[in-house]
Amino acid sequence: MTDAMAMTQTASIRAIDVHAHVGWYRRGVNAHMDRFCSATAKVISDRARRARIRWTMVSPLRALLPRGHGDVLAGNEEARKAVASTRNLLMWAVLSPHNPASFSQVAELLTLRKCVGIKIHPEEHLYAIRREGKALFEFAARHRAVILTHSGEKNSMPAEFVKWADRFPEVRLILGHLGCGWDGDPTHQVRAVQRSKRGNVFVDTSSAMNVTPGLIEWAVGEIGAEKVLFGTDSPCYFAPMQRARIDFAELRDSQKRRILVENACALFGLKKG
Ligand SMILES: [Zn+2]
Repeated sequence: MTDAMAMTQTASIRAIDVHAHVGWYRRGVNAHMDRFCSATAKVISDRARRARIRWTMVSPLRALLPRGHGDVLAGNEEARKAVASTRNLLMWAVLSPHNPASFSQVAELLTLRKCVGIKIHPEEHLYAIRREGKALFEFAARHRAVILTHSGEKNSMPAEFVKWADRFPEVRLILGHLGCGWDGDPTHQVRAVQRSKRGNVFVDTSSAMNVTPGLIEWAVGEIGAEKVLFGTDSPCYFAPMQRARIDFAELRDSQKRRILVENACALFGLKKG
């Protein structure tokens, strides 16, 4: 390893976490796990500060869980209040094709300074993106919005987003969870970026799979650091640990800087610093 790869070069960067959550995790499988993966806005915010994360973009767990029973409207309202009272948090507004009222609520939330875009989750909301993508992307295109999506399971295979992203180039799409694949294949998100034609598809590093040595480094080699955004999935995963994965990655400092902060600044029009 060369000096240029040493973590000390990037540890002082104030990063932007594009994929996090807030609230109560209600998977309903194990009470301990549900508690460990839950956090208030204050806990998310404190962990982010310790990991030198300047902005954390959260979506409300209440809008997503339990599977098929998330309360989208109440969750979005909860997130709106949480980010209004917590300095270093920004929000994603959750949109569901099964919830017509969420479209008007999200349209209103998108006008807020602290709302960065639209979060969709085909798995927790029980729909196939190949069938429902049109309404979601049409809406996002109308609002020139960024979409962050869960990806890698059967309803949310990265390849199935590509046709929507190609058809709606005004929409910038972040495929969440680099390396996540229900079939054990960690390449789906990267392949989708490569297949997309309009340059509007990105991936984030919020997967537990990124503890695998080589995954992020391989992704950067395939699609370039400019397509990879830092995400933690906090509080489902520990934000400082996710941060360390990038600081210690076997990449050049310039690539780490892009992943940690520069790409997000460009995508969301945020100031560096
Ligand atoms: Zn997530």
